[in-house]
Amino acid sequence: MSFEPGAQVGDDEIPLAVPEIRGNEWAYVEKCLTSGWVSSVGAYVNRFEEMVAARAGAPHGVATVNGTAALHVALLLAGVEAGDEVVVPSLTFIAPANAVRYAGAWPVFVDVEPEHWQMDAAKLAVFLRERCERRGGALWNRETGRRVRAIVPVHVLGHPVDLDPVLALAKEYGLAVIEDATESLGATYRGRPVGALGDAGCFSFNGNKLITTGGGGMIVTAREAWAQRARFLTTQAKDDAVEYIHSEVGFNYRLTNVQAAIGVAQMEQLDAYIARKREIARTYVEAFADADGIEPMREAAWAESVWWLFTVRIDEARFGMDSRALLRALQAENIQTRPLWQPLHLSAAHSGAWAEPCPVAERLNLECLSLPCSVGLTDAQQARVIDAVLRAAGLARAR
Ligand SMILES: *Cc1c(COP(=O)(O)O)cnc(C)c1O
Repeated sequence: MSFEPGAQVGDDEIPLAVPEIRGNEWAYVEKCLTSGWVSSVGAYVNRFEEMVAARAGAPHGVATVNGTAALHVALLLAGVEAGDEVVVPSLTFIAPANAVRYAGAWPVFVDVEPEHWQMDAAKLAVFLRERCERRGGALWNRETGRRVRAIVPVHVLGHPVDLDPVLALAKEYGLAVIEDATESLGATYRGRPVGALGDAGCFSFNGNKLITTGGGGMIVTAREAWAQRARFLTTQAKDDAVEYIHSEVGFNYRLTNVQAAIGVAQMEQLDAYIARKREIARTYVEAFADADGIEPMREAAWAESVWWLFTVRIDEARFGMDSRALLRALQAENIQTRPLWQPLHLSAAHSGAWAEPCPVAERLNLECLSLPCSVGLTDAQQARVIDAVLRAAGLARAR
């Protein structure tokens, strides 16, 4: 008896973002299986690490089982210890905050800015200046009594954070910067790729990301010692490979060669994928230019976004319905959309964490909706989405 995985998406359903497999994936996986090197050591792992690191402008890449594991290990590299605090934006997928907790530390949530929806460096500065004090060569949150150790700027939705002011604050206060670039592989900030602008950066190759290995992640860094330690920690912290001696508790966090084989094929297509993402974004932006109350995410002058999830902001009064009513209207036409994440300062999972006021994150959560934008989205499918959005607004206003 054999197992036949069937299609899960109906013919007329337009998904939000699904993987695009159309290059050398089959050929490389076959070579990998034929070679017998299927586990966490192999030529594809090395090649994949080189390719991603080069793309991020970093000398070292260490592949991991997923992006969350990459973040966990990167925080440990930065010296984050149990009881410490790490600053994270409130508006992001929950993974970076969870990774902070895996390290036994606490996230501190700061707001995002209203222009590009990324971590707000001005509000980060307010937290560091007004809530924290320096003592004994470290920075302490006066409100919680915990030591602040690192900042995790998250480049959400494919667009970079305005990073220079964040890096300047990190320097001023002696904090490490771990970039969460999981949603933004290939994006550039002032002409430089994201991921290698802080002390270390993390990527994800989950199925809904720009490129995928099914599941996977990577740490990139310019620090040779950090890269070595990342390899050590992700392979059960083995001191002696022959005698199996361990001096600390490590993790089984390495990516397999089979997955890396897919990753190498996906990396070969990254430029084409980004070009298609930008084209999809341009088409949406033009289509909604004259529509009232629907405002697409904007690209900053200093940024090149990869438009991972194309997202619009809905002004209920002018559009005629709110973002969730639009979600339901599109769902009725088999078009999948998604609101932005619940702001993490409101998440029960992280109650107990210190949070600065985050009014912008709260509003964006209520008002934003991501639209279908798979690399493989056809022009006809996109036209259907655009038509459905504009029709929904027209009907709502006519009521
Ligand atoms: C996807 C994602 C991650 C990591 O995800 P994995 O599924 O563990 O690979 C981390 N942070 C953000 C912001 C993400 O969107």
